[in-house]
This record gives sequence, C-alpha cells and structure tokens, in this order.
Amino acid sequence: MLANVIAIDGPAASGKSTAAKNLAKTLGIVYINTGSMYRAIAWKAAQKGISSKDSEAVEKMLQNTTLAYEQQTPSSPWDICIDGIFPGQKLRSPEIAQAASDVATMPAVRAFTLDIQRNMAKDKLIVMEGRDIGTVVFPNARYKFFLTASPRARAYRRLTQDGETPDGATLDSVAAEIAERDKQDSERTVAPLRQAEDAIYVDSSNCTQEQTLAVLLRYIHDLKK
Ligand code: C5P
Repeated sequence: MLANVIAIDGPAASGKSTAAKNLAKTLGIVYINTGSMYRAIAWKAAQKGISSKDSEAVEKMLQNTTLAYEQQTPSSPWDICIDGIFPGQKLRSPEIAQAASDVATMPAVRAFTLDIQRNMAKDKLIVMEGRDIGTVVFPNARYKFFLTASPRARAYRRLTQDGETPDGATLDSVAAEIAERDKQDSERTVAPLRQAEDAIYVDSSNCTQEQTLAVLLRYIHDLKK
C-alpha cells in the first residue's frame, strides 16, 4: 500500500524546504520538515550542556523528551515542539545545524524520530522533507523526489537566508560548512543521505522557486486526500 506521503530528500540547502512548502501549499496538504526534529534534539542537548557527540548522554536525555509536530493555532503550519516548547528560529543557527548532523548519526535518535514521522502520515496526506524519507521512513511513498543543486548554488542560497550563517560568512566558508555536513550525512551508517532508486532526480541549480515547483507538479497526478 502506498503511504500518504510525497517525499523530498536531498543535501543541505538544496531548496528542499522552500520546494516542499510551496508544493504543500499548492496541493493544500500538510508540510513536515524532519530536519527540525534533529535540530530540536541538538538544541535541547546544548541547553543541558550535553555534547552533540555524546551518544550515551543524548540517548539518556531522550528518555525524558517529548517531541511532536503541533500547530500553534488551527491555521498555523505544523511545527516541531519539544517538551512543550516551540524553539522556532532558535533552531536555525549554523551551530545547531552541525550539532543536528551529529545527533542524527545516532541509532537511538533515529529510532526515536522514525515512529513520530510515520505517525504523521496515518490520517492525512503530507509533504515530508529530509534525508531518508524516500529510503527509510516511507519507502512506499506515493511520490519521491531527490532535490539537489550545485555546491555554489546551495552556498549562495544559504548565505542569503536570514540568520542561517554567522556574521562575516563568505560563499567559500558557507560552502565548506555545507560540504562537511553533507559528508557526515552521507557517510553515516544509519539512514544515510542518498537518492532512493525510484526517486525523481531534480537539479534546481538554475531554477527559480516557481520553476522548481512547476517541475515537481508535472509528476504529481491523482492525489486523492
Ligand atoms: O534539513 P536540515 O538541514 O534542517 O537538517 C539538519 C540535519 O538533520 C541534517 O544535516 C541531517 O544530519 C539531519 N537530518 C537527517 N534526516 C532527515 C532530516 C535531517 O538525518 N530526514
């Protein structure tokens, strides 16, 4: 049976979030950003003075952690909520991005997030973006896209995103940070970043947001809620 999911995977700053948001809005369905789960876990660990590389301490922390996607009001988007708090923009710093990539290598963290992600699609149609949605979380997703862009295009996009890069960041420094995170995400043993065999490959290097959306929509037919 096909899952109620349109999966969009790809490397950091490839435009997945924008494409997934635009797609969900156009189709009138829910958008879920799974990276925010790893960022929220990394954020909580940082608050508690736990290193993002200390898998034992992070695993222990998860025993007293509640993580869920919730809406702040009935009309707001589904956002990550950890222990009753919506960290929102606090998750968007480069330090949290790197720490998220660290905790995302831990099997206990992945087991913790998997159930929550699968539950989201039980009763509604969703666009879910991440690294392993089409390969591990929903291998039976209705549609799968692997969205990427050249390293330079991705670095430029990240540099122009408000608050996501440190002061004084350059195209080269941002490209290096992204490359390091992609390397760790692709080389980890559990749920690495890779394209599912049956995913549609989209290179958005030379595309505007509207053009990327149009490409995705071209493949989507018969979407009954
Ligand atoms: O997508 P975003 O950049 O917010 O993700 C932050 C980090 O979370 C990624 O670098 C990756 O390590 C991890 N992640 C993951 N699996 C997902 C989504 C994100 O491992 N499905």
